[in-house]
Amino acid sequence: MKKIENLQTDVQKGLIQQEAQERLRYYGLNSIDTQANKSIFTYVKEAMKDITILILLVATGLSTYIAYQTHPDDFTEPVVIFSIVLLNLYLSIRQQKSAEKSMEQLKKMSTPTSSVLREGVVKEINSSEIVPGDIVQLTLGDRVPADAKVISCVNFFVDESFLTGESEPNEKDASYQASETDGLSDRKDLVFSGALVVTGKATILVEKTGNETEIGKISHLISNEITNVAPLQIKMQKLGKILGIVAIIAGFLAIGIGITKGLSVETSIMTAISMAVAAIPEVLPVVVTISLAVGMGNMAVKKTIVRTPSTVETVGGVSVICSDKTGTITENKMTVKKIAPLAEMPALLSFTEDQEKNLLFLFYLASSFSENEGGSNPTESAIKKAIDTRFSEKELQEHLSHLKKIKELPFDSKRKRMTDVYQIGKEYVSVTKGAFDRLQLANPNEHYLTIHDQLANQAYRVLGVAYKVFQQPIEDISEEDLEEGLTFSGFVGIIDPAKKEVAKAVEVAKQAGIKTIMITGDHLLTASRIAKEVGILEEGNEAITGAELKKISDRDLVKRIDRYRVFARTSPEDKIRIVKAFQENDEIVAMTGDGVNDAPALKAADVGIAMGSGTEVAKEASDMILVDDHFATIVQAVEEGRRVYQNIRKSLYAMLGCNISALTVVLLSLIFGWGAPVTAIQLLIIKVVADGIPGFSLSVEPSEEKNMEKQPIHKNESIFSQGLAVKILEISVVFTIVTLLAIVIGRTQSVAIAETMTFIVLGLSTIIHMYNCRSEQSILRLKFLGNPLLVLTTMIGALIIVLLVTIPVTQHIFGFVTIGLTNWLWVLGLSLIPVIYIEIKKWTHLF
Ligand code: ADP
Ligand code: MG
Repeated sequence: MKKIENLQTDVQKGLIQQEAQERLRYYGLNSIDTQANKSIFTYVKEAMKDITILILLVATGLSTYIAYQTHPDDFTEPVVIFSIVLLNLYLSIRQQKSAEKSMEQLKKMSTPTSSVLREGVVKEINSSEIVPGDIVQLTLGDRVPADAKVISCVNFFVDESFLTGESEPNEKDASYQASETDGLSDRKDLVFSGALVVTGKATILVEKTGNETEIGKISHLISNEITNVAPLQIKMQKLGKILGIVAIIAGFLAIGIGITKGLSVETSIMTAISMAVAAIPEVLPVVVTISLAVGMGNMAVKKTIVRTPSTVETVGGVSVICSDKTGTITENKMTVKKIAPLAEMPALLSFTEDQEKNLLFLFYLASSFSENEGGSNPTESAIKKAIDTRFSEKELQEHLSHLKKIKELPFDSKRKRMTDVYQIGKEYVSVTKGAFDRLQLANPNEHYLTIHDQLANQAYRVLGVAYKVFQQPIEDISEEDLEEGLTFSGFVGIIDPAKKEVAKAVEVAKQAGIKTIMITGDHLLTASRIAKEVGILEEGNEAITGAELKKISDRDLVKRIDRYRVFARTSPEDKIRIVKAFQENDEIVAMTGDGVNDAPALKAADVGIAMGSGTEVAKEASDMILVDDHFATIVQAVEEGRRVYQNIRKSLYAMLGCNISALTVVLLSLIFGWGAPVTAIQLLIIKVVADGIPGFSLSVEPSEEKNMEKQPIHKNESIFSQGLAVKILEISVVFTIVTLLAIVIGRTQSVAIAETMTFIVLGLSTIIHMYNCRSEQSILRLKFLGNPLLVLTTMIGALIIVLLVTIPVTQHIFGFVTIGLTNWLWVLGLSLIPVIYIEIKKWTHLF
């Protein structure tokens, strides 16, 4: 296919699907290649920076040298150590790759979409599938998806600061005639990929996509270094380093002790190597990465798209959830349930005897219906539905035929009202509907307020309507004037019921020590009523309006914020103050939002949550996207975040206990003059089959029942807090005692038997300890098959250990001997001691 110079698009119908497909094949995806695929070499280079790998490489070198010097016919040791290096490399590269892949997939799920006209219908498609020649519709809050020419627009301003550096939005003009000398930024009829629609709407014809766009051309100038490293991963890397240093020190210590105790230099060095190898938790950083990735995957299944792994960590610690009311806590399915005509209808709009019908029609006149029905604002749809049930199509058209709409001041969440102006013969009438407190009336009346409050108290979303008649052409009248001195006509009460699962989710959050806060533009009474229904507003809590909030200084707000559960009649700017005040109180705040104005608050929150139905801008500013807009989903995400965090703690508990005890066992054994009780190879085998691989499977451990009954983890709390450090040290002591006992028993027979027994006890007790780590509950209370992966990996691990010490070939290679039945009973008994000890602790809580 030849390059299409002329875009040949039917402006009324857009491209046909097949043509779009062909163009997509020809031009490629509308996305900018930012990151070249990393080569294996890059990964290896990165892995080489890891101190663990370095220590293992040094160990390989040293053991090769020693083998060459002392037993040149047997290189098992260096080969095994080097295989571990390779295994480590393989694991870390594979994990990194799969983590990157799942990131990519998540990114795809959260890619922006655009409204594109194809075959005569407007469809939401992934922006990456846009091709030159597509007709795209843009509205407030959209990102321009490609470089394009504006075909038509209304009041259309875009922010192009990323290209031009100008901070003021530029107005675009479809009719602009380009001249020879125009630079791109002068072309008022063009929009560029990445620009943000600040006001108005437009229809555009796409000319260039992907790397051909202006932003695509300079994309190499833009840093594509996205940091996807969670604080926890950094902490684990640090921990790895610290343990690496400990390993080196312990190694030198071992050489010193070995030589003073009369061991040969070679043996001392080999012992040092096994210590170093023992102390390093090679797989721990990988476990953290996997756990976070698993968390991201689970959250995606449960309808929350997390944009970075670190959010998985943060969301588990959330202590305050600030949620929008409409659509998140309520259904956003609005129905007009009450029509309350309270005053005279304008004579020229009174078509029937039925005052309710007249009032409803007045509301209808103050509404705006977008051409494509379904997408319009739910409040507007509610009014349209009410109209449709009461008016026949003919009747409606008949009424409308007298009127000519000449102006509209659209609804916005700051003014909380909207106005339409009509010409009727020689007269003009402007009709405003909106929040009652935002209607500027010429005929205010206590009675109206009483009725309003009665309705609002019954959870109705109350809208008032008022009008004003002008004799002169409205061109001479200012926008302010159109909405002032209005004559009030009446109310409608709209019901927007709370979503079913919300009350339960609020309760779960409460049990979990998380406060739920409702933020809404709706009236205080309406909001409070619904908040009470779902359990957000309880005895002792308060509700406050945006106007009251403005009167409180930042300092006082920090002191008082805790008592409020409902913020009503708020504007988007209020959200950021609310976030900051909670944060000042050391809370970890999640905040929802969907509009352009919500972006700053979403950025400021610890976890900014954008609605799946929200604007692109809100999504970009967020950490997490709520696909189904549902409050309960936020609570589920918190639960998943907590599960991930707890499981990482479990892995730490499982693995560090093994590391520390291996170290102390070797050191003490040297000090007691028993020589090294295990060889480097044997320790490595234990670390891989007994510790590393089963340790992975703790990351898929299901959530504990009590997970959502605990208080949130405090902001600056270490992952070792709440007694974990003590538990690790404690179990290390138990491991050490048990293993030393095995050595003592073995040594009464022979050194070789003692070594074999040490290996078995270290291996089996580590494997069995995995089950201690599963939960704070007794093993007997858990489903044994609750974590099938753990069962599988521990079974295989135990089997390998038993086979290695019993099969003659492997006995010979790894230096084991047959130990006999009594000794087997001893090692089995000793290996069970740690689990018995922990079980007693769990049952008695005594010590
Ligand atoms: P929220 O999304 O938190 O429910 P909104 O900003 O949508 O709040 O609405 C705030 C108030 O603005 C409502 O209580 C209502 O009185 C008024 N309002 C909402 N939608 C419209 C509309 N389409 N036309 C006129 N007034 C509206
Ligand atoms: Mg709204």
